[in-house]
Amino acid sequence: MKIRPSSLVQGWPVATDTCGVCVALDVERSEAYEAGEYREVGKINEEIRNHPHTRQRPKAKATGVST
Ligand SMILES: [Zn+2]
Repeated sequence: MKIRPSSLVQGWPVATDTCGVCVALDVERSEAYEAGEYREVGKINEEIRNHPHTRQRPKAKATGVST
């Protein structure tokens, strides 16, 4: 049985399903968590946390996040 870490660990920012970048980051975070790369997990958490999800329309501009 596989538990998604993002639903397991409290305090982690939740990736928005409608945002491809956050979904990709969420997958990366799960892999990093399973690999024990907690520094990477923290880095990805910051990225998700800092990813803008306001009511405004997202700008069609690259944010520098490689996917
Ligand atoms: Zn996002």
